[in-house]
Amino acid sequence: MSGIPGAARAVVIGGGVSGCSVAYHLAKLGWKDVVLLERKQLTCGTTWHAAGLIGQLRASQNMTRLAKYSADLYGRLEAETGIATGLRRCGSITVALTEARREEILRQASLARAFDIEVHEIGPGEAVALYPHLDVADVVAAVHLPGDGQCDPANIAMALARGARAHGVQIHEGVAVTGVLQAGGRVTGVAWRRGEESGRIAADVVVNCGGMWARDLAAASGVTLPLHACEHFYVVTEPIAGLGRLPVLRVPDECAYYKEDAGKLLLGAFEPMAKPWGMGGIPEDFAFDQLAEDLDHFAPILEKAVARVPLLGEAGIQTFFNGPESFTPDDRYYLGEAPELGGYWVAAGYNSIGIVSSGGAGYALAEWIAEGEPPFDLWEVDIRRAQPFQRNRRYLRERVTETLGLLYADHYPYRQMATARGVRRSPVHGALERLGAVFGEVAGWERANWFAAPGEAREYRYDWGRQNWFQNQRAEHLALRTGVGLIDMSSFGKIRVEGRDACAFLQRLCGNDVDVEAGQIVYSQMLNARGGIESDLTVTRLGETLFLLVVPAATLRRDLAWLRRHLGEDFAVVTEVSAAEAVFCVMGPEARGLMGAVSPDDFSNAAFPFGTAREIEIGLGLARAHRVSYVGELGWEIYVPADQAAHVFETLEAAGAERGLVFCGLHAMDSCRIEKAFRHFGHDITDEDHVLEAGLGFAVRPDKGQFIGREAVLARREAGLERRLVQFRLRDPEAMLFHNEAIVRDGRIVGIVTSGNYGHHLGAAIGLGYVPCPGETAAEVLASTYEIEIAGRRVPAEASLRPLYDPAAARLSM
Ligand SMILES: Cc1cc2nc3c(=O)[nH]c(=O)nc-3n(C[C@H](O)[C@H](O)[C@H](O)COP(=O)(O)OP(=O)(O)OC[C@H]3O[C@@H](n4cnc5c(N)ncnc54)[C@H](O)[C@@H]3O)c2cc1C
Repeated sequence: MSGIPGAARAVVIGGGVSGCSVAYHLAKLGWKDVVLLERKQLTCGTTWHAAGLIGQLRASQNMTRLAKYSADLYGRLEAETGIATGLRRCGSITVALTEARREEILRQASLARAFDIEVHEIGPGEAVALYPHLDVADVVAAVHLPGDGQCDPANIAMALARGARAHGVQIHEGVAVTGVLQAGGRVTGVAWRRGEESGRIAADVVVNCGGMWARDLAAASGVTLPLHACEHFYVVTEPIAGLGRLPVLRVPDECAYYKEDAGKLLLGAFEPMAKPWGMGGIPEDFAFDQLAEDLDHFAPILEKAVARVPLLGEAGIQTFFNGPESFTPDDRYYLGEAPELGGYWVAAGYNSIGIVSSGGAGYALAEWIAEGEPPFDLWEVDIRRAQPFQRNRRYLRERVTETLGLLYADHYPYRQMATARGVRRSPVHGALERLGAVFGEVAGWERANWFAAPGEAREYRYDWGRQNWFQNQRAEHLALRTGVGLIDMSSFGKIRVEGRDACAFLQRLCGNDVDVEAGQIVYSQMLNARGGIESDLTVTRLGETLFLLVVPAATLRRDLAWLRRHLGEDFAVVTEVSAAEAVFCVMGPEARGLMGAVSPDDFSNAAFPFGTAREIEIGLGLARAHRVSYVGELGWEIYVPADQAAHVFETLEAAGAERGLVFCGLHAMDSCRIEKAFRHFGHDITDEDHVLEAGLGFAVRPDKGQFIGREAVLARREAGLERRLVQFRLRDPEAMLFHNEAIVRDGRIVGIVTSGNYGHHLGAAIGLGYVPCPGETAAEVLASTYEIEIAGRRVPAEASLRPLYDPAAARLSM
């Protein structure tokens, strides 16, 4: 008899650190009947050979929160389970060899301080005191995190597995999941095989923790899980006399990390050009395998390392290790429920930080599965950001050559991927190129971020200060404020909701009242039961039973999933139509003149007021103009059928030539919107942020009747705000804000900047960020003194709860 049950509440696929952590945390939540299936032996995939670095400093607030959770959990596990996890809080040092890296690590230190992680900025002398073998001749700065550590990765997974078993999880090794069963858009269980035996387990929840196997397993169920294995290298020396106990050392400028272990030194690499592996799929029989050595590939890292830690030169190499690990197109892992299939959850694609991430990720995913909502905003790792085209294996193979090395590359603001570009393009991409566009990528879409002047290099020169396109953005920004600009926003996500119940359905999901006349546009959010923001969108009523929802390109799949999940018995059809229409935003005080030159329609305030949409004749074609603006000016978004896009664009370009039309990019759009304090989903507003605290109460209508989140809105109204989204303007016009800088209120760090850009009209960097203020009035919040901490330097800032630009919104209705 197999001993494998025929039914379970949840089946976890994969016994690496990820699967063990998910099973452990589900069991800790009291879930009974959880089964974990491992095709060979626990840890036999990638987990057994990880280097075991536990670094808590991550790029964002919530990733840092999860890494800190892991470190704390691994510290407790030994006492709980009796398995030694090898966790040693030896601390870590990261050194900078360039000014750019200095800025980056000091910015990260500010971020760490905002999350109560102990961090010290240290000089080269102090670095040597902590790491005597380090050559610091060219070290310009360093940070020390005493709470960081290292561990034994396999034992962490084994301890999690034992803890899970102790709480009732059944773990079966040697059992491969051969397929995930589904019916009616939901999982119903798994099919498994063990040798000659096979069977099924019925389950409503299946969690794919299959590491580098996870992609193909998901694809067999129609689930998009874009990841690709890469070869990942380290060497371990012979024992070195006099090495001593050392902290972990990172030298990102040399793509290297060092870990002292039992008198030996482990040197690991994040080389700029990685080697993809497993192109034809991951072998069935892979277990505790290693890949072939490649000394030539590792040599450049080793060469620099010998100069950096000269002791290495005298030590013999005992082990040359090469093992495969999963990497993703954006270097972030995947958590959450697949939008294609209800009950199909994932925790995979860990980009070489799976040990430090899995503790927290397992906790967060278990909560998410149990509660239906994540414990806090996890959008940056949410599986719903994955794009269907990313199932293309050639795309993945090309992209992961880059993403492995990015772990230790300079994380400059606005940094763009260099590989696997150009997949999704606007119908007028060629024209934008002709006009000097420099493109950036979001969700695979190529979008003009800024326009180079004739003869100017069309490339980013990254920097932590003003980058090479600062003046181009300024010219575009000022054209939008004083003249007329055109921004191609064809990448907008567009969703038609149509049918007898379309209105009632959207009323149930949207906080604002969308039961308006045909031709009206409503700005709204879709809320969760906590009043958090799941989606930020405009809803245009095109007819009695037809609505068009416009959402950011990056959130389209998430928004579709939210809509479909809540459709229930409503008689409505949700259709994604993004590629059907191009969108040209004609914005600025001179927009009316330009529209009048290309169309016989009446664009006066009386005939075409703000917040309305109607069909227009334009050139020789037809389009639909929406009077809205994300830059805070008079203007129209023109939705053009894809087949007429080139014609309409050329018509606008020709008429614009006589009217000073300036082609503008996404960077100018962003700098304009931040002056107006318009929120940006994923940064300023997330599912964790209450709509009232985000300052969007004007877009919520509790009086309209029932909708998801209404009670939470009423309750917060009653109880008062715990925090508020505040707009900041730096008093030093030279300083720059990007995001994640620390907000300092009356000398104390209270939060972080959620988004930032340069306000070319307001004459300084502008940021948005939450300030905790329970029980305080708006006046009390503003009475404080504010500074923003940027890489350790505190810059005084003006704070405002009303948009610093055009607070009365007069320009929208010019
Ligand atoms: C050289 C190297 C150094 C590293 N160093 C670090 C480090 O210092 N710190 C850090 O945090 N991370 C590090 N990592 C990364 C870390 O090892 C991984 O991110 C982590 O182990 C991934 O765990 P996982 O559970 O997702 O995958 P895996 O450990 O591969 O587990 C997946 C499991 O699923 C099983 N499976 C697959 N398909 C099926 C199926 N159909 N049925 C049943 N079972 C299935 C597999 O057998 C496997 O055991 C390193 C990685 C490498 C390669």
